[in-house]
Amino acid sequence: MEFGWSDEDLTFRKELRAFLASDLAETWTGEARQLGSAANVEHSFSFARSLAERGWLTRHWPEEHGGAGASPWQHLVMAEEMWSIGEPRGPQYMNVNWIGPSIMAHGTEAQKQLHLPRIARGDVIWCQGFSEPDAGSDLASLRTRAVRDGNDYVVNGRKVWTSYAASAEFCYLLVRTNADAERHRGISVLLVPTDTDGFEINPIPAVVGDHAFHELVFTDMRVPVECRLGDEDQGWSVVREALAFERVGAPRYARAAFILDELVDWAREHEVELSLSLLDRIGQARAACEAARLLAYRVIDERSLGLPPSPNVYLARAAMVQAERAVGAVAGELMADEGLIYGSIADEQLRKSMVAGVAAGTYEMQLNMIAQLALKLPKGR
Ligand SMILES: Cc1cc2nc3c(=O)[nH]c(=O)nc-3n(C[C@H](O)[C@H](O)[C@H](O)COP(=O)(O)OP(=O)(O)OC[C@H]3O[C@@H](n4cnc5c(N)ncnc54)[C@H](O)[C@@H]3O)c2cc1C
Repeated sequence: MEFGWSDEDLTFRKELRAFLASDLAETWTGEARQLGSAANVEHSFSFARSLAERGWLTRHWPEEHGGAGASPWQHLVMAEEMWSIGEPRGPQYMNVNWIGPSIMAHGTEAQKQLHLPRIARGDVIWCQGFSEPDAGSDLASLRTRAVRDGNDYVVNGRKVWTSYAASAEFCYLLVRTNADAERHRGISVLLVPTDTDGFEINPIPAVVGDHAFHELVFTDMRVPVECRLGDEDQGWSVVREALAFERVGAPRYARAAFILDELVDWAREHEVELSLSLLDRIGQARAACEAARLLAYRVIDERSLGLPPSPNVYLARAAMVQAERAVGAVAGELMADEGLIYGSIADEQLRKSMVAGVAAGTYEMQLNMIAQLALKLPKGR
């Protein structure tokens, strides 16, 4: 068995690092790094376009849709390099990871032509309208209603915690199109322009950043039926498929390991004496990052072999959360009072690790899935 990277993958990582060092040196700083801020969004466009010009933004997409058919491993190399420096693609990582591929798999020709070239050029921002006040972990209980009226759906309801909505041009929206069907069966996906009448966006200030979250309110919003992705009432399977691999599409372990290195550098610069117990925890945090990395690689291996998603997806996600939290705890202890300063390494890591176990499915929900699917324990109530 060969666990090493291929020469091609190593070369790609090297070229990518050299490009990042030159292209981002002056721009990826300060406000540009504040999630969802105007500068962050502006940076997302300029950076994603420069990746697109090099053929790197959608390198893993099939050629017919503007990609180069690169392997899932090169897609992971890209994701690791991006995440370790704070994801300079901004919201566009979602476009290339799962929104575009979902449109490729289920879209009509018109939808493909409208959306895919713009995503491949780095020209558009999308948001993801899934969670509702009473539908987070239990997403299938979502209530935003879309009622058919001629060639339109009339949508009423509310979404919460929508990242990037204020700067998004389109929303990948989950709605209930059939209130009588079994709850997983009555859901559809609509691809909705955010400037549609009746689409209201309100900011929700939060610990991850003032511009990060939004509430979406839909009041008699008319959405043409041709904006539906996939069959009516079949949205649950469309979305499950889209997100199956996305759970490892954000390799949080890469960022956590990078931050751990920064913390150790900080301790050296400030001549902080590290106690044996802290050294022990730094070692454990590093091991947690590496464990998460290996579990994520298992998932990518399955993907590259064309296997269906397995419980390893949940194991990898849970391990990533543990790694983020371990590094967060080390950061707080190591930097002590200095870590309380807004924007310090510890401040950022503590806030990131706080939400790591909530976004994209909570830690507890991952554990439930591991219990059911990997350990085959009976389903709880
Ligand atoms: C950084 C970030 C970005 C996000 N971006 C988006 C976005 O762009 N679009 C979007 O739609 N949503 C987004 N979300 C929302 C996210 O998907 C939800 O917060 C998440 O699904 C959890 O739902 P909830 O907040 O309603 O919590 P709840 O589901 O109410 O959970 C509350 C607590 O109860 C626990 N719990 C719930 N059910 C169970 C159970 N069955 N067994 C054990 N424990 C359980 C949970 O683990 C959690 O600890 C984002 C969240 C974060 C933190």
